Amino acid sequence: MCGIIGYIGKKNAIQILINGLHREIYRGYDSSGIVVFGKNEPICIKAVGKIENLEKKLNSQSIEGNLGLGHCRWATHGEVTEANAHPHFDCQKNIFLVHNGIIENYKELKKKLEKEGHQFNSDTDTEVLTHLVEKYFQGNLEEAVRKALREVRGTYGIAVISKKDPQKIVAAKLSSPLILGINKDEFLIASDPSAIITHTRQVINLDDNEIAVLKPDNFFILREKPLTQIEWTPGDEKKGGYPHFMLKEIMEEPEAIENAIKGRLMIEEGSVKLGGFDEIQERLRKINKLILVACGTASYSARIGKYMLEEYAGIPTEVDVGSEFRYRKPIVDKNTAVIFISQSGETADTLASLQEMKKKEILTLGVTNVVGSTQARETNAGVYTRSGSEIAVASSKAFIGQLATLAMLTVYLGRQRDMALIMGKRIVSELSGLPDIAKEVLKSASEIKELAEKYKDFKNFWFIGRKYNSPIASEGALKLKELSYLHAEGIGGGELKHGHLALIDESFPTIAICPSDSVYEKMVSNIEEIKARKGPVIALATKNNKEIKNLVDDVIYIPKTLEMLTPILATIPLHLFSYYMAVLLKNDVDKPRNLAKSVTVE
Ligand code: GLU
Repeated sequence: MCGIIGYIGKKNAIQILINGLHREIYRGYDSSGIVVFGKNEPICIKAVGKIENLEKKLNSQSIEGNLGLGHCRWATHGEVTEANAHPHFDCQKNIFLVHNGIIENYKELKKKLEKEGHQFNSDTDTEVLTHLVEKYFQGNLEEAVRKALREVRGTYGIAVISKKDPQKIVAAKLSSPLILGINKDEFLIASDPSAIITHTRQVINLDDNEIAVLKPDNFFILREKPLTQIEWTPGDEKKGGYPHFMLKEIMEEPEAIENAIKGRLMIEEGSVKLGGFDEIQERLRKINKLILVACGTASYSARIGKYMLEEYAGIPTEVDVGSEFRYRKPIVDKNTAVIFISQSGETADTLASLQEMKKKEILTLGVTNVVGSTQARETNAGVYTRSGSEIAVASSKAFIGQLATLAMLTVYLGRQRDMALIMGKRIVSELSGLPDIAKEVLKSASEIKELAEKYKDFKNFWFIGRKYNSPIASEGALKLKELSYLHAEGIGGGELKHGHLALIDESFPTIAICPSDSVYEKMVSNIEEIKARKGPVIALATKNNKEIKNLVDDVIYIPKTLEMLTPILATIPLHLFSYYMAVLLKNDVDKPRNLAKSVTVE
C-alpha cells in the first residue's frame, strides 16, 4: 500500500505533488495519479507504471491550481490499470478521493450503491468511498466523509476534495499512516514524513478515527468516536442462500485466507508487510521469547503458531489459555512479547491477561478480527485477521484467518532473524495460492455429508494428529462438541498409547489427521494401534496417498501444501463434518446450547 500526498496553499500544487510522490515510491507502487483544482474544471490524470509516465502526461498540458491530491497505488483490489489508479471520483465528478488500505466490506457497499443508482468506473474497493461521500454530501465535505466512514470496515488513509465545497482537503485514517504538514500559508497531507520534509518540519500525526480539515489559512481536527460493537452492516448478517450461518462461514474459509493475506505478501522479497508493526519494528527485532495467549478455538491457533514460530522464526514460544495465564506467574522480561489472539477482541480472560502484561510494561501484540475492539485498542500493536463478520457462535473462518495471520507473522519475525530469502519466498508464495487450494477442499462437502450420515449414530469420537496437526485434532473435537453435543476428544497421536487406547473399540471411531508430512509414518503407526483394537478410522490424508485407504475405513483427501500450512486445509473438512453431524442430529447449529459468541465474562 503505497502513498498519498495532498497540498493546499498559495503555490502551484502540481510540482509539490509530483515531488511528494517520488519520495514515497520506495514503499512499492504500480500506478499513480493526481487531481488538481485549477481555475476551471478539476484536472485528474493517471498513469500505469512509473511516476515518469504520469509526468510525461502532465508535461503535455499546462496545469495550474493550488489545491490537489496525488497517489501512488499498490493494487489490492482490481488490476493495475488506469481506471483503477487513484484518484477516484463520484458519478458527477465533483468529489475526488485517494486511499491507502483496504475497504473490507466494499462488495456489499458497492451492491447497495449500485442499486441506489451510483455508477462505478473501476474494480477497486476504494471507489465505494467516493460514492458514499457523494451520497451523504449536503454542502459540507467533512460531514459527508464522517458519515461515509461510519459505513466502512477495513483500513484506510484517505484524502478527499470536492468542487462543491472547494478550498478544503478532508483527510482521515484508520490503521494506515497519515500526517499533516503545517507551514505558513500552506498545509500538506502525506502518508510518509519524507514526502513533506522539504516543505516543513512541523507535523501532526493523525490518529485513528480523526478527521482533519485543511483550508488555505487554517486547519482543524474532528474526532470520531469509534463504533466498536457492530462490526457489520445490515444485510451482512443474511445467510447468502445457505441454510445456516455456520455453513456460509465455513464456505467463506478460502475467502478468509484471501482477506488475511491481501496486500500483505511481498513475494519477491520473501517477506510480508504488516502495517500495524511498522512503529515497533526495532523493538520486535530484540524479542527473544514469545508467549501466545488465547481461549478456546483461538488457543488452538496459538498452539499451531508455536510450531510455526519456533521452527521458522527460531523464537522460543510458550502458549497458554487466558484463564490460566492471568493467574500464574509468567517469566517475562523486556525482551518478551506476548501475543493475544481473540476473534472478538473482547474475550474477558484474554483481556485480563493483557492488562497483567501491561502492568509489567511487557510488549503486547494482538491478533483480532474486530477493528477497534478493546484488545485492538489496548495492545501496543497488532494485526487484523479481516475475516469479516462471524455470526455463528462456533468459530470457523475466523480461526482460519488467525492461522493465515500467524503464518505471516512467522515470516515477518523470521525474516527479521535467520530465515533465508528462499524460505521466505516459499512460504509467502504458497500462502498466496492457498485460497484457491482451500476452494478445492470445499468441493468434497457432499462426500463429508455422506460420512456424517454414516457416523451420526456414534456417541464418542477421537481426533488425533501430530505436530502441526495435533492442535487441529483438538479443534476438530471442540467443533464436534460445540455443534453436535457428542463426546469428542482431540490429542496428539503419540499420546494414545499412554492410557487413551483403553477406550477404543468398534463403537469409538477416530478421525486421524495424517497428511503426507514429516510425521506421516508416525501417524500410520498410531492408526495401526487403533485398527488392531477394532476402532473405526476416518483418515484425512493428502491427495494421491493410495496406501492409506487399505488401512482405514474412510478417507477424506486434502491437497498438498507446506507442512506448516496443512492445518489450514485440514480444518475445513473437520468443520464441515461437525456441521453436517449437527444438522443430522437436528441441533441449533448457529446457536448451540449453553454457548455465547463473545465470551466477555470470566
Ligand atoms: N485498496 C486500494 C486499491 O487497490 C488502495 C491500494 C493502495 O493502498 O495503494 O486500489
